[in-house]
Amino acid sequence: MTELSYSRGRQDRALLAMTIGAALDATARRFPLREALVVRQQGLRYTWAELVEAVDLAARGLLALGIAQGERVGIWAPNCAEWCIAQFACAKVGAILVNINPAYRVGELGYVLERSGCSWLICADRFKTSDYHAMLVELVPELAGRRPGAWQSTALPALRGVISLAEAAPAGCLRWGELAQRAQAVPPEQLQARAAGLQFDDPVNIQYTSGTTGFPKGATLSHYNILNNGHLVAESLGLTEHGRLVIPVPLYHCFGMVMGNLGCLTHGSAMIYPSAAFEPLAVLQAVAEERATALYGVPTMFIALLDHPERAGFDLSSLRTGIMAGSTCPIEVMKRVINEMHMREVQIAYGMTETSPVSTQTGPHDDLARRVGSVGRTQPHLESKIVDEHGRILPCGQIGELCTRGYSVMLGYWNDPEATRAAIDGARWMHTGDLAVMDDDGYIGIVGRNKDMIIRGGENIYPREIEEFLYRHPAVADAQVVGIPDERYGEELVAWVRLHPGHSADAEALRAFCRQHIAHFKVPRHFTFVEDFPMTVTGKVQKFRMREISIAALKAG
Ligand code: AMP
Repeated sequence: MTELSYSRGRQDRALLAMTIGAALDATARRFPLREALVVRQQGLRYTWAELVEAVDLAARGLLALGIAQGERVGIWAPNCAEWCIAQFACAKVGAILVNINPAYRVGELGYVLERSGCSWLICADRFKTSDYHAMLVELVPELAGRRPGAWQSTALPALRGVISLAEAAPAGCLRWGELAQRAQAVPPEQLQARAAGLQFDDPVNIQYTSGTTGFPKGATLSHYNILNNGHLVAESLGLTEHGRLVIPVPLYHCFGMVMGNLGCLTHGSAMIYPSAAFEPLAVLQAVAEERATALYGVPTMFIALLDHPERAGFDLSSLRTGIMAGSTCPIEVMKRVINEMHMREVQIAYGMTETSPVSTQTGPHDDLARRVGSVGRTQPHLESKIVDEHGRILPCGQIGELCTRGYSVMLGYWNDPEATRAAIDGARWMHTGDLAVMDDDGYIGIVGRNKDMIIRGGENIYPREIEEFLYRHPAVADAQVVGIPDERYGEELVAWVRLHPGHSADAEALRAFCRQHIAHFKVPRHFTFVEDFPMTVTGKVQKFRMREISIAALKAG
């Protein structure tokens, strides 16, 4: 008889039953003098003892600001030392860190701050095309010309303060460095008392993600969720206190802050940030100069590293392992990463924000066929099943929706019980919206998505959000966005647009309109102008047809 598509991970190692703050203190006690954090673009290096000192100062500063347990603190910044310190300091005082994508524009920022009810925001200075403070002032004009604490936002009534990462704090904001000064008013015992009152099941992090459909929802994760996931992901890699992990993936996503930061924290390995945002040259330099043993990335990043004209000039031989995840990894890329980048033990991981994120992972001893043909087996302490449209477990070899259960499943979507109930069923299974197949040995392959999501260069894009945005353009009567395969980014966006009669707008005009208001990765690369969309007889738009037509049109040039 064929086995059923159900599997359970190993359970031979106990889960960590502690808060993130307690885990950090334990690591600093074990490895005080080993390197903890290297931030190359800022020229900063910390041992675990130094990092804990910086985290405790920031945490006492947060207490001095009156931040209570459970208050939400947003962070809107590219990768930097302060991001890591803020992550651990918020965890120590029991504040809930709200990750905000640094590519977001004003509307997206306002949505996240409002929905999560952030009372404080840690805000970067400027980076590339983003002047964070200028965008914030558009949302909170009351900041201009005021002292910190002397303004009240009408748009965001819950917001009490902004901590700026700029050298000189703009009007209305505190400077990051002031946290350490304010900390002097708070004795260390006060921090210890706060830490002692926290539970490992408390929420510690909110990450906005669109789940299976619709607008972003705040996946709310506990200490227990993410500390254990980071621990088990890095355990599979065999990271130890001698490990040196280069983290070029964004910290605002679980890949950076859980698999990266918490993976290292639980093993005493060094976190190495090569640059504020992904830059292939900086990654190659970081690996070579820091003698890195491990490297993370989404497939698009590995493709950029492999194709970099200067790659041959860097000694990457210190690399042993790492993770490629986030979207389907092309076989050729995997082979080249093993052969040309020395990552002979590289692993594939699969998961989603709502599950902390990793649910399945290949192992160090899996052969190449498994590593390129599957996303591995169920992680320790978790369960996976593949079900049909009625929720019945399918026999192995049949395609259905993948569901995950266990310690890693989020507490829920922030303030959204209805959406939570739609994602997590009564038996606590998270329905992923991914289509998968399991073999008799429990290896799982991802074969598609039954959700309306596009993954471009590792960034999740929800067509509806872009469609709603395009409707705002006066010339646009209707818009449909689909994803088509792309060699470099995995997928690219095509917007099908119907214009109002008598109006005109070309692709460049619509692209410029998008660029002003939405994050760059959401701006459609291609536009197709039509009189009508392909429809079913019942009047449903046929996105798969649009996808086919767009692919054929692009091929034809
Ligand atoms: P996120 O919530 O941003 O982590 O995105 C989660 C989604 O990314 C999953 O539901 C999958 O659709 C996709 N995904 C993540 N890892 C993989 C992988 N290794 N292979 C294929 N798809 C993946």
